[in-house]
Amino acid sequence: PAPPEDPFRKGWLKGVYDEKPVKEVHTRFPPEPNGYLHIGHAKAITVNFGFAKSHGGICNLRFDDTNPSKEEERYFTAIKDMVSWLGFEPHKITYSSDEFDRLYELAEKLIERKKAYVCHCSPDEVKEGRGKLPNGEHGPRTACQHWGRSVEENVEEFRKMRDGGYKPGEAVLRMKQYLATKPEEYEADEEHSAEVKKQKEKVRALANNPAMWDCAAYRVTKNSHHHRTGDKWRIYPTYEFTHCIVDALEDISHSLCTVEFETLRPAYNWLLEALDMKTEGSDEKGPMQREYGRLNVEGTILSKRRIAMLVEGTTVSDAPTALAVNGDTLADDMDELALAEEGEEELDSSPEAGKAATSTYTRRIPPAVLDWDDPRLFTLVALRRRGVPPGALKKFVLDLGVTKANANTATHTLDANIRTYLERTVPRLMLVLDPIKVVLTNLPDGYCEERDVPFDPKDKEKGTHKVPFTKTIYIDRDDFREKDDPDFFRLSPGQSVGLLNAEFPIKCLSFSKDPASGKVIEIKAEYGQEISAGKARIHWIGDSPTHNSPLKVEARLFNPLFKSAKPNELDWKNGGYHDNLNPDSLVVYKDAMVECGFEYIREHAPWPKEEGEARGAVDNSSVRFQGLRTAFFALDKEARGKRIVLNRIVGLKG
Ligand code: ATP
Ligand code: MG
Ligand code: MG
Repeated sequence: PAPPEDPFRKGWLKGVYDEKPVKEVHTRFPPEPNGYLHIGHAKAITVNFGFAKSHGGICNLRFDDTNPSKEEERYFTAIKDMVSWLGFEPHKITYSSDEFDRLYELAEKLIERKKAYVCHCSPDEVKEGRGKLPNGEHGPRTACQHWGRSVEENVEEFRKMRDGGYKPGEAVLRMKQYLATKPEEYEADEEHSAEVKKQKEKVRALANNPAMWDCAAYRVTKNSHHHRTGDKWRIYPTYEFTHCIVDALEDISHSLCTVEFETLRPAYNWLLEALDMKTEGSDEKGPMQREYGRLNVEGTILSKRRIAMLVEGTTVSDAPTALAVNGDTLADDMDELALAEEGEEELDSSPEAGKAATSTYTRRIPPAVLDWDDPRLFTLVALRRRGVPPGALKKFVLDLGVTKANANTATHTLDANIRTYLERTVPRLMLVLDPIKVVLTNLPDGYCEERDVPFDPKDKEKGTHKVPFTKTIYIDRDDFREKDDPDFFRLSPGQSVGLLNAEFPIKCLSFSKDPASGKVIEIKAEYGQEISAGKARIHWIGDSPTHNSPLKVEARLFNPLFKSAKPNELDWKNGGYHDNLNPDSLVVYKDAMVECGFEYIREHAPWPKEEGEARGAVDNSSVRFQGLRTAFFALDKEARGKRIVLNRIVGLKG
């Protein structure tokens, strides 16, 4: 068969390469280390690293750390981890801040070339100069009184900025771009040659582009302590000044970024040309910027600020959040919740509260979202924790395609893709979310039959493992009904049902209930050849301490965090998201069970090996399996030794 088409050498990416078909492809992924990466960044990582790799080139991980106040150590580490988890290895890890000395020198060089000036205008004056009148209307653009300063004066002022002579806002180094150029002076005439017309049009376009209206290159910052350079600098370069220069210094050939930077491309080229790092009108020398569409996911929020509101901003009284227990969500307990809001400290402070439910849980009301890696979020740390394989994310990004258009998708589409990916890859086990004990009365006490069960019936290569079939088994509460119903094909009094991975069916004889909770606690049934096979086959778990079966687990199921399919449209400013939180977004089964084959899977994880995981980016989340008839699960980071906590990655159906 023909080798699969390289996704980095077709479509839009092919076009980008063909525009600049160099031997040494150098790219970079340039995050600002001011937050956790999200699913959109998985696209940026995949595009930059994948494109370089496909052409035998290299990709740097560059921390664009020119904004001293917002950076924290944990973000640097988390970003590095995510790149390697996705299976990529940076050629070098670089920091824009490592170039602060050179950037400063280049700024002075720009001044010497009469292409930058120190400006003392207030923000309103700057706006007005850019043509925005106080009444909101557009007026003519005008250069300010500082525009025409001499080189000597500018150098002196710039050094004064550097040396602490100005407070934040008192002085800014601005690039002398096209603010003072009057587009009407570049109107082309009928008589002009095609060449002249083209030239005039180009200048007009530049003069009309807000990105060319003498943008800031350096500013004095308020909190000037920098994570890496300490107190050396009081002035810091802007994105517009830094990015293109560092691209050039790192010898980047293809500078790939998202479409919102397209209008900034002329400014990118202008600065490099002004510093002789690029030739006018040509991409041959120096980096070439090209823009691809963003990946937007509907049904969740990706904005750092909004996630921060969820992580930090909620308290007991303002978050009707879902911690559901044994399948019941707190939504069912809203009245109690209302009580709690009226002043009771904790719900479980009432003696009845804990007892009424079947088992061992304490009710608590967590904040809306527990942390940045809460599996209901779409940050990369959260997706990883949920158990999503990195390969599934890369495949998703590439299947959506890399073009100039934004790729808009929804969380359920992503989930569907993850499901398809997992179906073909991970081993299968039996897991029971909400167990009911079934005693098979016609089997002798202590009966135990070892069954040889395949890890994947469709893939013999995965091998088999031993599962005990015993007199007592556990089935899922969902697979039992107290009353027979012609439309219900599983277990109910007088009815029989098949058992997956066991030889014969079982038939229900009777059941008993816990008088306090009214819940079914035990079923008596018969097992054997003579029982007519039911229409369905259900999963179960045998009871054999020598086989370490069952293994008790806590299973966490996740549903959309918001009731709205478009949570970005909520009134975030006024906290309007509170009432929109989905009370069923987290459902916890405290007393779930998994068969003993889980131990084997845990020891052999990741199985199969994902690229990044093969190189060591492993943690609990790489222990993944399909719970037959239930869902895909992965081990949560809170699991330790005998305490098994599982996260539902995705369900089996959409
Ligand atoms: P901020 O909003 O704080 O500026 P950001 O989302 O722009 O953060 P960066 O750290 O600046 O994040 O982004 C690093 C790279 O990831 C950039 O090249 C950016 O274009 C790209 N990127 C960010 N969001 C997306 C997205 N949704 N889809 C594709 N690429 C993205
Ligand atoms: Mg940014
Ligand atoms: Mg952003």
